[in-house]
Amino acid sequence: TTWDVTAGAVQLPGGRGVALSFEDVTAVEAAGAMRRDFVTNVSHELRTPITALSGFIETLRGAARDDAAARDRFLGIMEREAARMSQLVSDLLSLSRVEQDERLRPTAPVDLSGLTGQVIALLEPIAAQARLRLVFEGPEAPVVVPGDEEQLRQVLTNLIGNAIKYGGTERPVEVTLTAPEIQRDLRGPGVRLKVRDHGDGIAAHHLPRLTERFYRVDPHRSRAVGGTGLGLAIVKHIVNRHRGRLRIESVQGQGSSLTVVLPSE
Ligand code: ADP
Repeated sequence: TTWDVTAGAVQLPGGRGVALSFEDVTAVEAAGAMRRDFVTNVSHELRTPITALSGFIETLRGAARDDAAARDRFLGIMEREAARMSQLVSDLLSLSRVEQDERLRPTAPVDLSGLTGQVIALLEPIAAQARLRLVFEGPEAPVVVPGDEEQLRQVLTNLIGNAIKYGGTERPVEVTLTAPEIQRDLRGPGVRLKVRDHGDGIAAHHLPRLTERFYRVDPHRSRAVGGTGLGLAIVKHIVNRHRGRLRIESVQGQGSSLTVVLPSE
């Protein structure tokens, strides 16, 4: 099943006169409801680690006071919870940054080939821990697109990071980059970056919602592997800013492939 996320996002509600003002009101109301949901979600996501931290502090003061082994174990958990909170806050900041200036298209030349190599090198140790290999296939020469290097680094990190988290261990994660060519999705020249894994895949009915903030197929698993539920929302906004496309394809039991197509001019 394929879901073209960004194609849906650029369609604006049509209509004229009365119908239009009616739609405007619903849009405003929907935005208000979304904001409330968002605040509820953020509060909930932060409360979980805070509750855990408070609980462990109490235990360390009391029952575990003289038990060195328990103390070490609890401190380890506290460290992970603090790291989770810090990841959440940094993802929230990234999200608000990319949402804010979505209309301004970044234009500095970025070599996607070099950047992909860097991100893979950085994530290789994490993949190795998960007993997973990362394979990169792309042109030797630089593949340059107009963009924002830090944001494109984040796109690569989130997509390859997800493939490592959810990609199983059987077969390698394949990252493929094509040289600029005419891309049907863009009706013009562009590059295609594809991250394919052979993990469990995602059931079709989840695909349209994956880029919503905090949407997770399996919240327990996502938390266990260190997910904040914001990764794909950030990817979608960055791709939109670059006037690109994000496509998610997945077959349950066989794996997923996430493709970003970016204009090269
Ligand atoms: P998270 O931080 O939870 O990984 P994301 O926004 O990156 O959040 O992804 C949202 C959800 O989409 C994940 O929780 C996971 O359920 C699902 N997902 C993302 N990438 C993959 C993948 N490569 N394979 C299977 N499921 C995936």
